[in-house]
Amino acid sequence: MLTPVTDSDGAPFWRYAAQGELRVQSCADCHEPRFPPRPCCPHCQSFGTEWRQLSGHGRIWSYVVPHPPLLPDYAAQAPYNVVLVELAEAPRIRLVGNLVSSAGAPLDSLDPGRVRIGARVHVVFSDGLPQWVLS
Ligand SMILES: [Zn+2]
Repeated sequence: MLTPVTDSDGAPFWRYAAQGELRVQSCADCHEPRFPPRPCCPHCQSFGTEWRQLSGHGRIWSYVVPHPPLLPDYAAQAPYNVVLVELAEAPRIRLVGNLVSSAGAPLDSLDPGRVRIGARVHVVFSDGLPQWVLS
């Protein structure tokens, strides 16, 4: 399994995820959410940041079902899905993840034929990794 690569801007995302919280970086001045995390607000150029807690609800904006060639660990789990989730409170932010049958379930735990654009999903966490399940 690949592990998250963190930097100082993105580290809080993973710290909150480890606590089971989905938070996105937002501007402390104009309050616009932004992702991926970065030092400066692209809307007002403020360097002030806050981490807004979200409900964890969203909709599938798009998805793919990767096919070989894949890294060996992933090839063993194919076919699986990779979804792009539009967040309910921050629709301009779309997080990449996997739709699974339950938290911590294997990547291939959900039949790719059940994945639909527009389907409502919510976040679950497995060892600090955000995953998605159908709502
Ligand atoms: Zn701003």
